Amino acid sequence: MSNPIPEEDWRCRKCATLLGVRRAGRVHVKHKRAQLVVRGHVMAVCPRCAELNETETASEDARPAA
Ligand SMILES: [Zn+2]
Repeated sequence: MSNPIPEEDWRCRKCATLLGVRRAGRVHVKHKRAQLVVRGHVMAVCPRCAELNETETASEDARPAA
């Protein structure tokens, strides 16, 4: 019954519209009939206020050494 995978809302920084959900190092973004699952650097334009929002998914993977 417990949810082992933590989820975190990703909301517009301006109007707090829900843009997606962070889960397991990825961002899930619902768009009409599709659901996009994105990793890495994510940008989304808020459907309500057109603010450009950016986020970075949790880096579970080792980054290549600079
Ligand atoms: Zn917004």
